[in-house]
Order: sequence, then structure tokens, then C-alpha cells
Amino acid sequence: MLANESEYLAGTADLVLTGGAVHTVDAADRVVDAIAVTGGRIARTGTAEQVAPLIGPGTRVIPLEGRSVLPGINDSHLHGVWLGQMWPSLLMEQMAAGGGEPPAPLKTREDRRRAILRTAELLATLGVTSYTEPGLGPGEDTGPSGCFGSEALRDYAELAAEGRLTARVTALMLFGELDGRSSLQDVLGGLRDFTPPAPVPGRFRVAGVKIFADGIPPMRNAWVDDPYTDGSYGGLLVDGDSEAGREAALREMIDAAHAAGHQIGVHATGSRTTRTVARMMADALARDGRDARHYIIHGDLLAPGTLATMAAAGVGLNTQAGIAVFTGEMMRGAVGDAVMPITWPTRDALTAGVRLCLSSDAPVLTPDWRAGLAAAVTRRGLDGGVCGEEQRLTVAEALRAYTIVPAWQDGDESWKGSLEPGKVADLCVLDGDLLATEPDALPKVPVSLTMVDGRVVHEI
Ligand SMILES: [Zn+2]
Repeated sequence: MLANESEYLAGTADLVLTGGAVHTVDAADRVVDAIAVTGGRIARTGTAEQVAPLIGPGTRVIPLEGRSVLPGINDSHLHGVWLGQMWPSLLMEQMAAGGGEPPAPLKTREDRRRAILRTAELLATLGVTSYTEPGLGPGEDTGPSGCFGSEALRDYAELAAEGRLTARVTALMLFGELDGRSSLQDVLGGLRDFTPPAPVPGRFRVAGVKIFADGIPPMRNAWVDDPYTDGSYGGLLVDGDSEAGREAALREMIDAAHAAGHQIGVHATGSRTTRTVARMMADALARDGRDARHYIIHGDLLAPGTLATMAAAGVGLNTQAGIAVFTGEMMRGAVGDAVMPITWPTRDALTAGVRLCLSSDAPVLTPDWRAGLAAAVTRRGLDGGVCGEEQRLTVAEALRAYTIVPAWQDGDESWKGSLEPGKVADLCVLDGDLLATEPDALPKVPVSLTMVDGRVVHEI
């Protein structure tokens, strides 16, 4: 018996799920038959016989009949307010269809609360129990959509305190524009003057700062080592009057946010940007040795040397396999065949020892992690063609990138992200056998139950 198990064994379990495939996502990726939940925590996992003694008169027993139990899904890069505004429209689908009507801007606190709660409801049906809201703050207080301003941070904190969030939310502050320019002055001023709302333990926390370093390679506004097919190199999105000036400003932003004790997530996609940002993060981390959990967001183009820098420094990668399969051919047109081997290199990242998180970037793509997991495993695009076959992941690797590794990104891996005794009972029951299902068919397998903190928030 594990030491921390005993305190949960005083009585019988509140809930036992038995007779299926419980994917613990522990260090050995053990798959067991049954799991017991008591007082919002996981009491025991193991064979049906090992868990059976915890069944008492008051225990709800759910026969799994071959279904799979997964740790609650953690979508580690999802714009919750924006998704609530857009859904069921998605940005990439609108673009593919030649554009669409922008939704009505969110103007009031009620508008934003409604959007957040709409997202909460949707995510509960998908088995998502944690997410990162990547960029809300003063840089967008006058933004046209109303989705990314600092008021939304307060709305989250209020909803969390009211117990109305069905997912645990980690947020990053934004001191520049979303997908746009930022100046050193904005970031330093924001770090100095902006006070984020206090955390609501276990439910909502402002963890750090989001910085946009560049654009995206298909638009040729990401900074690259090898020229685009038109001979250009893109550049940094940070204000500065020269390349060296922009680079110095970016370094100062990262240094200042690090020194202020924040986690830093940097949108970096071009090969030169990712290389530069990885080095800047590594330098900041080397200075004081703080376990800051900084990470590169998207990382479309990542050279082997960059992955090695990230692994050595403990810099994570947060990427979207769905974007790889959706925009792979646009990428090829922009960067050319020779650069394609370093595009969205998920397999190479794991081999290098980089902590890899997969996420949706919803509403850019669907918040359906089943589609994202399938994309990571097959790398098959909408046209049926495979983009980056050698970068495919196994189902177990992709599941880790949606559960325990994002828990690491949140700094919360000691109490969530896997199904182990003592951890919170955040789980997702899939109406089929995860490993026996063809990845392409996975999005059609329903999520039959979602539990957060031992409370059922979705059940069909
Ligand atoms: Zn995003």
C-alpha cells in the first residue's frame, strides 16, 4: 500500500469504476481494471479484486464494460473566453470556407461570464478538466473582440470563487496585443503596474506572462534561419528599430518576467525565433535555477539544436498537431521541402527529452482533444495526405501530452494529471477502448462521463 493511500481508506469509496481499462498515466503508463474515488480523491487503482473491498452500501459502482478511464484532459493552450464567443464556429474552418462573420464583441461582464460558462459546459462534455487561458490582460483592454482584456481575468476569478468553473484554469497575462506587436515599455509597465486577481486554490491561477515573439511561417512573418521560398526571412514582432534592437527587447522582456517570478509562455514559430527564445529562456533559468516551467508555444519550426537547448534547460513545448495536419501544405509552400523535416517535430522533441504538451488553440481548432490526439498519432491531414510521418506519436505518448505533462506545465503534477492514489479525482470516461480504437475513429467515441474533484460534471 502506498503511504498516502491510508488516509483515504478510513471508509468505503464514494465511487468505483470497474471492469475496463483505467489508463493511470503513471510513470510506467500502467493500465489497470478498476479505480476507487473517495472524498474527491483517488483512493485506489488496481485489479477488480484489489478495488472491491472499498465497495460499501453507499458506494456508487459503475461497471465499465470495457470502457476506458483516462485522467481528466488538460488542454494546455485554449482561449476559453474567445471559444465561448465563437462556438460552434472555429477560425480555421471559417478560413477554409473563405471567411465568416465575426461574432458580436463581448462588451459587458455578463457577456464575458456567459462566454466562459459556455466554454465550461462544452469542455465538460469533452472530458476536459483543466486548461490554460493563454493571454488575457491590459494589452487587449481596448481590443475589438472583447475576449482578451484584463477584466476577463477578474471574471474567471469570480466564477472560480463561486464554484461555477467545471475546469481548473491557469492563465497567462498579456501586456501587448494578441497575435500582434508588443513593446518593451508595455511589458515592463505591465509587470510593474498590473495586479492580477488572487488565485482561487485548485481552480484558478494567474501563473505568468504570454509574449508574442513572431507571427507564423505560412504568412512569412515568422523569423527563420533558412529563407522562405520568396527569399525573405521574416522577423520578430517585438518593437525595435533594428533586428538587433528587437532581439535585445525580447531578451529584456523575458529577463524581466523571469526576474519577477513568472512562468513565461512565448509564441515562437520561426526557426530563428524558437532558437533565440530557447536560448534566452535557458539563460534566464541558468541565472537563478528557478523551476519556472517556461515554454515555447506552437514551435512550428524547431531545429535539432533548439530541441537540445530546451531539453537541457527544462523549457517545455506546447504545440498543436491539428495545426500541423491542417496547414502542412501551406507550410510547404512557404518554407520549401528542405525545411519540412523540422516542422512540428513532436517525435524529435520527445527523443531529445523535451516535455511536450499537445493542445487545441481553440477556437482556432476544435477543442475536441480526440481529434488532436488522432492528428498527433496519424499526422493525417484533411486531404488524407500524411504530413510529417516520422513525427507520429503513439497513443500513450499523446495521452501523456494531454494529461500529466500539461500538469507539469501548470506546476501541479504532484496532485493532478494522472490516476494515482491521493491525487484529485479528475477523470474522463471514454465509451470505448482507447487502445483498440483506430485513431481516426476516436473523435466518434463519446465521452460518457467527466468528473472534476470527484464531482460528476457530465454524464450520458
Ligand atoms: Zn493561441
